[in-house]
Amino acid sequence: MAPQTGPLPPGRWQDAARATGLLSADGTVASTVFAEMTDLARRTGAVNLGQGFPDVDGPAAVKHAAQRAIEDGHNQYPPGPGVLELRNAVADHQFRHYGLDPDPETEVLVTTGATEAIAATLLALAGPGDDVVTLEPFYDSHAAGIALAGARHVTVPLVPGPDRFHLDVEALRSAVTDRTRIVLVNSPHNPTGTVLTLDELEAIADVARRHDAVVVTDEVYEHLTYDDTEHVPIATLPGMRERTITISSAGKTFSFTGWKVGWLHGPAPLVTAVRTVKQFLTYASGAPFQPAVAGALADDETPRALADSLAVRRDLLCTGLVAAGFDVVVPQGTYFVVADGAPLGHDDGVALCRALPGLAGVVGVPVSAFCTPGSPTARALASRVRFTFVKREDVLRDAVERLGRLRRS
Ligand SMILES: *Cc1c(COP(=O)(O)O)cnc(C)c1O
Repeated sequence: MAPQTGPLPPGRWQDAARATGLLSADGTVASTVFAEMTDLARRTGAVNLGQGFPDVDGPAAVKHAAQRAIEDGHNQYPPGPGVLELRNAVADHQFRHYGLDPDPETEVLVTTGATEAIAATLLALAGPGDDVVTLEPFYDSHAAGIALAGARHVTVPLVPGPDRFHLDVEALRSAVTDRTRIVLVNSPHNPTGTVLTLDELEAIADVARRHDAVVVTDEVYEHLTYDDTEHVPIATLPGMRERTITISSAGKTFSFTGWKVGWLHGPAPLVTAVRTVKQFLTYASGAPFQPAVAGALADDETPRALADSLAVRRDLLCTGLVAAGFDVVVPQGTYFVVADGAPLGHDDGVALCRALPGLAGVVGVPVSAFCTPGSPTARALASRVRFTFVKREDVLRDAVERLGRLRRS
């Protein structure tokens, strides 16, 4: 999409655009770096490892279930909280995997993807005068949602180490105060691929309890962890069930990102508050997809097989990036790996991403796009680039071979 020119109307959209680095100094909107890089890939024929969506669909049986649901007449508004079959499946899933037992009638809400769950939760619970604390880097919709709610965004850095990105616990303790309404967590984490440890989760739980903050946790990559890394939902920690909203989605787990079926669960008063906002955003969506996802949620084999195959693809891409001269922090989960261009002499990840199609025929996205513009974390991670490995092995092999040109250039 071409950048807008000419005067644009004032409004809350400007806050969301500013929070995500899209508002230019002259008041126009820049295209997102994701759109810019995808466009660049299309124009240059580069391999697009920028956007994180699978190039293989989820199970045929799940597609057929959605087709059958259309045939069987599931084509009008589903219930606002979601079809009961899916709310039951979410509750069963949470009990089977984590021992959490939300009441499907009052404590589970189906949403239009995790994105709506996040936005509705922020709009329902946070507002002017409130702080919302997130990790940094962060998923862009988290920052946009905080801005649309009119709350203040406070961040806690994830710091790269040899094995993983870790939480700066000292920074967490000073970031969370009595002004903090929500601590918004994301683990497994996009873009760094880190999976928060029990110690880190306990530190978050501790400050949330101490300052009476709600914890909202984005767990869309809950099943995509590698090397026996365990994902622990923060809601399972002592005293957390009653203050935590847990969010997930079928998109990443079952490779149906276009279906936009997500859900959240938490204590009934919090879920009631969020449902009231969600009612006036979309009311309801995805009637034939909801029963199909309910069926998929009973199947633990598909996500396990996806994680196994992603671990292989992660290794393929990480090995190629290292061979090309990048420093790599090997991710413990998600679709993504963060690579550092500094050893190759590239200190500016944005410039590197713009040059990479020409240098190597590959596209990534700069990690600074997941930071507050100009923040200390944005500067600390300036030379880092996020690449996705949720592509077919032949596509990744092609990308790795292309990346080999970097060493030689
Ligand atoms: C992809 C993604 C989402 C969006 O999920 P949808 O179900 O597609 O709305 C939310 N959070 C994170 C961290 C993601 O990577």
